[in-house]
Amino acid sequence: MEKTITLIGAGLVGALLAALLAQRGHAVEVFERRPDPRKAGFLGGRSINLALAERGWHGLRVAGLQQRIAPIAVMMRGRMVHHLDGHTELLRYGRDDSEVIWSVNRGSLNMALLDAAEAAGAHIHFDQRLAAADWDKSTLRFCDENGATHEHTASLLIGSDGAGSALRAAMAQRIDLGERFEPLDHGYKELEIPRLTNLADAALTPRLLHQRETGEIFALEPNALHIWPRGNYMCIALPNAEGSFTVTLFLPNAGDPSFATIATPAAARALFERDFADALPLIPELEQDFGANPVGVLSTLYLDRWHLDGRALLLGDAAHAIVPFHGQGMNCGFEDAVELADLLDAHCDDLAWTFAEFERRRRPNAEAIAEMALENYVEMRDSVADAGFLLRRELGRVLAERNPDRFVPRYSMVTFTRMPYAQAFARGATQDALLRELTTNRERVDDIDLEQADARVHDLLTPLDPP
Ligand SMILES: Cc1cc2nc3c(=O)[nH]c(=O)nc-3n(C[C@H](O)[C@H](O)[C@H](O)COP(=O)(O)OP(=O)(O)OC[C@H]3O[C@@H](n4cnc5c(N)ncnc54)[C@H](O)[C@@H]3O)c2cc1C
Repeated sequence: MEKTITLIGAGLVGALLAALLAQRGHAVEVFERRPDPRKAGFLGGRSINLALAERGWHGLRVAGLQQRIAPIAVMMRGRMVHHLDGHTELLRYGRDDSEVIWSVNRGSLNMALLDAAEAAGAHIHFDQRLAAADWDKSTLRFCDENGATHEHTASLLIGSDGAGSALRAAMAQRIDLGERFEPLDHGYKELEIPRLTNLADAALTPRLLHQRETGEIFALEPNALHIWPRGNYMCIALPNAEGSFTVTLFLPNAGDPSFATIATPAAARALFERDFADALPLIPELEQDFGANPVGVLSTLYLDRWHLDGRALLLGDAAHAIVPFHGQGMNCGFEDAVELADLLDAHCDDLAWTFAEFERRRRPNAEAIAEMALENYVEMRDSVADAGFLLRRELGRVLAERNPDRFVPRYSMVTFTRMPYAQAFARGATQDALLRELTTNRERVDDIDLEQADARVHDLLTPLDPP
């Protein structure tokens, strides 16, 4: 393609897209609001680590980055549920260690992607915040942190500037994008469990003291996503490669407990003493972090249109920000990047068509994962303690074993495959209805006629394509 492609935002999705496009020989200019994290340190602002799943790995593989990221990713085999009485149990995500997710540091991942984009020839301009677009003159105005402005001419624009996208705002001055933000009535706050060697002896049980003497660096089981489900709220903790865990407390914004009632560090300590007692000794800076860190806001962004004819297109969070409970926002954005790079390779002569086609292919999938992410919050914080849910989960596991080509748990379709999200959503709904039907008035899987259940699976679900 002759035209230069101009990207706004070099976060996770923008940096991957820049790398993919530059690797295919396109001329790429990227403008990023923040300073270069490789020089200034990463100013992430939120979610220090993220869960990387198959869709995300695929994007990294296509960009040639799997080898670089694998050593800094920590395997998570399943949810380690911390019950109120202190006992824990691992609920595996998949069948074995080939079906796992990975915790990766956002800053390290972003920097690896920036390196790859530049190595492939993309030009990244840091400390350049998009302030305005003039669609008639095809010019953009950027501001740096000192308030100095500069203009740039661009006729092919891609917005990867996140949920608060400035490009989206500029596009909305030209066409109605049908934008709707649906805020979740829960927020989050991040805390930290330091590396085991950085914890005071008094915080440690004899078992942890012993583990530290034997060289262990993690204060909790490292290969799991830890979760303290407490009904209407929860805590989670994801491992970091250097031995710490990032803890995220999710609470409603109103009611009790909520960020309205747990408003001071002392109230946070009291909540942890009551509800997350086994985690409390491992979070020495609880009060300081609770006081200093802001309450993060969570919303789902819906748009009816993702592009302005052939001039501008949105992707990643700029087009479809979702709540984080399926760990798929970045994974979905990476799928966007791969799909768009492929489309631009094949059809660069008619950009209005290409952008419309991208939206046609991706929007139903983005809407499906948005819905599944909302549903997963209820499952994470509540259902793992619900007997009906556990019975359906167990039966689902059995049916999947007996019918591996037809019955695949929805979580697995979303997390371990690249099946379109919309298809996973539809099949998941069929499976869930069947599980509810088969478990009605049943208490154990042994009470269910499995041959009849298999027959229903064959009636309702077509065989899946082999991976
Ligand atoms: C608490 C939390 C946990 C999460 N956990 C997971 C997870 O486990 N797995 C997962 O897949 N996803 C997760 N996500 C979602 C994930 O963070 C996002 O989907 C992902 O960051 C989207 O990438 P992006 O590049 O589209 O946007 P962003 O990461 O927001 O990047 C946007 C970039 O654009 C830049 N920018 C913004 N405005 C301008 C401007 N005006 N001019 C120039 N540049 C600009 C920003 O500085 C930034 O670098 C989580 C999100 C949250 C909030």
